[in-house]
Amino acid sequence: MKQEKIVLTGDRPTGKLHIGHYVGSLRRRVELQNSGQFDKIFIFEADAQALTDNIDNPEKVRQNVIEVALDYLACGIDPAKSTIFIQSQIPELCELSFYFMDLVSVSRLQRNPTVKTEIQMRNFEASIPVGFFTYPISQAADITAFKATTVPVGEDQEPMLEQAREIVRRFNYIYGDTLVEPNILLPENAACLRLPGTDGKAKMSKSLGNCIYLSDSADEVEKKIRTMYTDPNHLKVSDPGQVEGNTVFTYLDAFSRPEHFGRYLPDYADLEELKAHYRRGGLGDVKVKKFLAAVMQEELEPIRQRRKEFEQDIPAVYEMLKKGCEAARAVAADTLSEVRKAMKINYFDDEALIAEQAARFSGK
Ligand code: ATP
Ligand code: MG
Repeated sequence: MKQEKIVLTGDRPTGKLHIGHYVGSLRRRVELQNSGQFDKIFIFEADAQALTDNIDNPEKVRQNVIEVALDYLACGIDPAKSTIFIQSQIPELCELSFYFMDLVSVSRLQRNPTVKTEIQMRNFEASIPVGFFTYPISQAADITAFKATTVPVGEDQEPMLEQAREIVRRFNYIYGDTLVEPNILLPENAACLRLPGTDGKAKMSKSLGNCIYLSDSADEVEKKIRTMYTDPNHLKVSDPGQVEGNTVFTYLDAFSRPEHFGRYLPDYADLEELKAHYRRGGLGDVKVKKFLAAVMQEELEPIRQRRKEFEQDIPAVYEMLKKGCEAARAVAADTLSEVRKAMKINYFDDEALIAEQAARFSGK
C-alpha cells in the first residue's frame, strides 16, 4: 500500500498564539493544507502537555483552548481540510505513551537539550514533575498515533522529532513494522527557525512575556514595535548600526517581502539596501520600526478580522473541536489496535491464541 502523506503538529494552550508560532509553524501549516499534497492533516492542542508545567493552573489551560482554536481559524486552518483536536480527549495517546516509556531510558531524556533549557526556564531544577520530564515521550505518541510523516515545527522541536524517530525504530525492531517514522519540516527562512522575543531574548515564548500576539490590536502591535530591542550601541542616527542580533531586522527577515518596499519605503529597493544603510550609519531606528509596523499590520490585519468573525459564534467553534476530537480518536484507536496486536496484548480478539491455549491445557 502506498504510504499516505500525513501532517501533524500542535501547540500548547498556554496562551494566545504569537508571531513566533506563525512564522515557525502556523503559516506553513496553512500552505501545506492548501497544497493538496497531503492525504490528512491533524492539528492539535496539547492541553495535557500544557498541564505538565501548569498543574496548579487548570483554568489557564481551559481558557486558552478556545483562544488557540480561534487563532487557528483566523490564520486559515480550515476544519473541512484539517482535523483540529484536543490531546486530552484522545485517551489512546496516554496508552501509547505508557508503552513507549519502556523504550526510552532516563539518561536519554536527560540529554534532550530543549527539555534541559525548559527545565531551567521554569526553575524546575530541584523538583521536575515526571510528566514534564517525559513529555518528549508523550509527544512521540501524539505523532505516531496518527502515523504522521511530516511535522512542521520550529527549531526547538528538533530533539523531540529525533526522539520520536528513535522510538519508532525501536518499536518496529522489537514488535515488527507498525509505526511510521516522522520527518521534521523546519521553516526555510533562517529568521523563522526561532523567532526572538521583542526583548531580544532567544525565543519569543508565551511563558516569557515577550510576544506580539496574532490577536493584538493594531495599537498594541505599534506600541510593542516602538519599544522593541534593537542595537544597544546605535544611539545617534549617524552611528553605524548592527543588523545581526537586532530584533527589528530579524522580524523584517521573517516578514518583509520586496513589494513592501514599493508600498511603504520606496527610497530602498529591498531589505539588503536598508541593512546596508543601517550598517553605514545615518538611518534611525524609528524609521526602520515604522516600516516594520506597516509590514506587520498588513500581515496581521486580515488575521485579526477573521478572528473577530469567528468570535461571533463560540459554540460553533466548540462544536468544530468536538467533531475534530471524534474523528481523531477513531484514527488513534485504529493505530492502537495495531500496536496492541504487535505487542501481543490483544488477548480477546486473537482467536488463534485462545485455541492454542485451549490445546495446551487439554494436553493435546
Ligand atoms: P510555551 O512557552 O508554553 O512552551 P511556546 O511559545 O514555546 O509556549 P509552543 O506551544 O511550545 O509555544 O510551540 C508551538 C509551536 O510553535 C512549535 O512548533 C514551536 O516550535 C513553534 N514555536 C514556538 N515559539 C517559536 C518561535 N519563537 N519561533 C519559531 N517557532 C516557534
Ligand atoms: Mg514551547
